[in-house]
Amino acid sequence: MKTVAKWVIIIWSVVCLVGIFFGLAKVGQIQTTTDAEKIGTAIGTSLGLGLWFIVWLAIAGPAALVYLVAGPKKAPPLAAPEPTRTCPQCGETIKAQAKVCRFCGHQLD
Ligand SMILES: [Zn+2]
Repeated sequence: MKTVAKWVIIIWSVVCLVGIFFGLAKVGQIQTTTDAEKIGTAIGTSLGLGLWFIVWLAIAGPAALVYLVAGPKKAPPLAAPEPTRTCPQCGETIKAQAKVCRFCGHQLD
């Protein structure tokens, strides 16, 4: 889930950037002569970029939230603990296979 969210953000950002790049390239081709045309083009470009940003945020925002909520990957479960038993002599916890208690030296069967 976390990986999917990350890739959604990356791919979507690239798609939007490419869209903006081609959009701006198109704007660059517009012939403007009067001030009114220049202002109009500037306003149109700003609105277009703003819209692109909102569209980008609509997808990347929730994906980023999923990414953050998902949190770090869960640590793998710990290895099964070694079997132990209690020394009948001293009461310490020792390995189940132990032949001699490592605390008191008691011989175990
Ligand atoms: Zn012992």
